Amino acid sequence: MDRQIERLLAKETKRQNGGIELIASENYPSKETRSVCGSIAIAKYAEGYPGKRYYGGCENIDAIERLAQERAKKLFGCVYANVQPHSGSQANFAAYKALLNLGDRILSLRLNDGGHLTHGSPVSFSSKLYDFHFYDLGEDGRLDYDLIARRLDEVNPHLFLAGYSAYPYEIDFRKLQEVINAHNLHSDVHTYFMVDMAHIAGIIAAKLTQNPVDYADIVTSTTHKTLRGPRGGLILSNRLDLAKKIDSAIFPYAQGGPLENIIAGKAVAFKEAASPKFVSYMKKVLDNTKACNDELARRGAKVSGTENHLFLLDVLASFGIDGKTAQAELESIGITANKNTIHGETLPPSRASGIRIGFAAATTRGCSRPQAIEIADLIYDCLTGAKPKSALKAKVASIAKRWKDVNDLTF
Ligand SMILES: *Cc1c(COP(=O)(O)O)cnc(C)c1O
Repeated sequence: MDRQIERLLAKETKRQNGGIELIASENYPSKETRSVCGSIAIAKYAEGYPGKRYYGGCENIDAIERLAQERAKKLFGCVYANVQPHSGSQANFAAYKALLNLGDRILSLRLNDGGHLTHGSPVSFSSKLYDFHFYDLGEDGRLDYDLIARRLDEVNPHLFLAGYSAYPYEIDFRKLQEVINAHNLHSDVHTYFMVDMAHIAGIIAAKLTQNPVDYADIVTSTTHKTLRGPRGGLILSNRLDLAKKIDSAIFPYAQGGPLENIIAGKAVAFKEAASPKFVSYMKKVLDNTKACNDELARRGAKVSGTENHLFLLDVLASFGIDGKTAQAELESIGITANKNTIHGETLPPSRASGIRIGFAAATTRGCSRPQAIEIADLIYDCLTGAKPKSALKAKVASIAKRWKDVNDLTF
């Protein structure tokens, strides 16, 4: 046994169990999923795809990966799935490669407005390899489909990208497809439609919002956010004509040997997500998120409102502090959330005016609606500085104590 690592993991378990996790991109996979991820499949090299491997001895691994593909296709209702991406970022790296030539134009939402690093941030590979242009949100912080139609005509992109990291409202994928199709009718450049559903994959799997695979050419995702699987990526499509291009963009272009232990874990998570129990879990997530948002609004804080698993709290307008400070204040009482830029941001991203709050992880541990409201009050009281930190910290600990142990989350 490695004592040093064991000790650190014990501390991490204690940290996770003792606090309230509100980072919108985090979640806890089931014990079943986790045990499969630590299985002996970790030892197998399987470069290539089922039936077309570069190594021998892949018959069981092939069956595992095929099962993961079949379950992903069934869960999301599509004809193609690539379960090999090591992460959401690598799924996006490969998706661009499958559809575009280097230097092609991509129209996306800026990181500051809720996009992702891989959607054209100057510090990401994406902006070095492709020519990114951006669309703005409407004045209300929501997607403005007329504005998008105009930007499509202005930019004439080879790819339009939807799907975000910090967008609290529903996305009308059907409407986006309509707008892109209309643009394509009179444009000499064909615009592909890509959706990165990393954050909302679980909501889509539970059929509680529009499914982008019905409208987009290609859909990328992570498997570890609302979907509640192991840390990893996923690519889906209903266009079989793109299958070969996507496959070769993952292997051999972007990656080498797939993580078959994680792919086995993805298979377990896809099965779990297809159950009625997952649908009721996801409904609770949405309900808790809204309850917390609404309570903060009731107390007078400026919040974004929410139609999914997250919302943004404008801490600058509400409490006169920046996101960085708010994040540290919350952390000091045992609540983990992250600073986030908000619509109409006036501060640099390193400070930011907001906090992003999500309930996927807390709900997995058993957070109830009354507790979500109590958490809103704890956040409010912490950030106004109205109550002593020690009292708030004790309340956080007592809520977390009533929840399930993170090591013991059976599905
Ligand atoms: C989280 C996220 C990703 C990237 O996921 P990683 O697995 O961390 O690389 C990509 N796109 C969006 C929209 C995300 O929210």
